[in-house]
Amino acid sequence: MTTSLEHSSFDAIVGGGSVSGLFAAREMASKGMRVLVLEEDHEIGTPEHCGGVVSQTGLESLGIIPRMKTVDNEIKSAVIKTRNKSFKIDSTNQRVIVIDRRSFDKEIAFQAQEHGAEINTRSSITSIAFEHDLFKIRVKGGEIYKSKYFVDARGVGSLVNKGMRNIIPSGQYEVYAPWIVKDTIEVIFDADLYPGFFAWVIPTGEGKGKVGVAGKNINPYILLESFLNSRGRPYSIIRKIYAPIWINGYVKPFFKGKNVIVGDAAGQTKPTTAGGIYTGGMGGIFAGRAIALSHGEGKEGKYLNEYEENWLFKFGKEFDRLLLLRKVLERLDNKSLDKIFSEVSNSTLDNISETGDFDFHSFSLKQFLNTKTTLNLIYTFMGNEYRKLIKDLSKI
Ligand SMILES: Cc1cc2nc3c(=O)[nH]c(=O)nc-3n(C[C@H](O)[C@H](O)[C@H](O)COP(=O)(O)OP(=O)(O)OC[C@H]3O[C@@H](n4cnc5c(N)ncnc54)[C@H](O)[C@@H]3O)c2cc1C
Repeated sequence: MTTSLEHSSFDAIVGGGSVSGLFAAREMASKGMRVLVLEEDHEIGTPEHCGGVVSQTGLESLGIIPRMKTVDNEIKSAVIKTRNKSFKIDSTNQRVIVIDRRSFDKEIAFQAQEHGAEINTRSSITSIAFEHDLFKIRVKGGEIYKSKYFVDARGVGSLVNKGMRNIIPSGQYEVYAPWIVKDTIEVIFDADLYPGFFAWVIPTGEGKGKVGVAGKNINPYILLESFLNSRGRPYSIIRKIYAPIWINGYVKPFFKGKNVIVGDAAGQTKPTTAGGIYTGGMGGIFAGRAIALSHGEGKEGKYLNEYEENWLFKFGKEFDRLLLLRKVLERLDNKSLDKIFSEVSNSTLDNISETGDFDFHSFSLKQFLNTKTTLNLIYTFMGNEYRKLIKDLSKI
């Protein structure tokens, strides 16, 4: 007998209504599957915990041409800094924009809904059971939903629940300040203040933007306060968020039976920048298509391997390279960073400006690190690991 809290069955339930989950839902619904998205927050896209930096090429691959109100800004250059050095890269060719995730996520939700998916907000999943070939998903309040497939798109929290370590704290404030330049992103390396990562300024317009920090074992609150004070007053903080990021690469397998993992929950964020709109969004698309094929043929699981293979074919090698390059970067102290930055030639910078690819930036990063000084420094810092690293770097 069905209790009043039990709902009818769906072909697939997606846990988490952000980019990766909504793209998966869109793809499955567009192939005629009955899909339900359960999102714990009260509104899709809110609270926004993202810088929103993405390439237009990436968005095109995701099948989204953002509306005017979704695009906050176009980025023309990036200033990269260490304590005492800095250089500027012209990023015009990379077609980088800053999107407003609050309205971007709603655009994907609307696409998913147009294809027939249902979305429920304020529906926090509290337990998932698999019985008699069906998932039984319980949400806060006691309601139970059933489905043949479950797509876990619950973000970094899902990795935390699995006991994964090395999750990095980050904080990001929305700030109004005269020193924020409309079309220039800033990236600030400081091995003492932001170990393993960096601080950033992402402009959303002239005099306004998102200022963030992340790093191993840091206190983002204290670091953001001192970062802002170092830039001088006046400034206003109009929003504060603290969120964990994952930079340890993809976490395989991407599925177990009919339980499929996408986006941040599968570690599909770039190991250098933690960017995941494009890579995690593509995870959602590949997964959604594979589930629809499996479901359509009634041969459960047959096509799910293709999801993993397709994603790895597109991003696997790039992620492996980025992991390697991050390993190098995070070993360097401030003195070494200054030294490397002072030796970057204008021709290298011109070349990166000309040929750099925002979505696949390992090649640019390698060009930048490929100096005699860097190689000597790597030798000093990495000792025995040096040979293997140089061999691996030469394959990039
Ligand atoms: C400070 C910061 C800045 C970033 N800047 C950028 C950037 O500039 N560019 C870029 O590409 N990427 C950026 N990222 C990464 C990007 O935000 C993520 O990669 C992307 O949002 C991943 O999407 P997702 O759908 O996998 O997971 P998430 O966006 O994390 O979404 C998970 C969803 O699941 C929901 N959820 C969680 N638990 C439950 C539950 N129990 N029941 C129901 N729902 C649940 C959450 O409420 C959330 O909506 C940034 C991340 C951070 C933290």
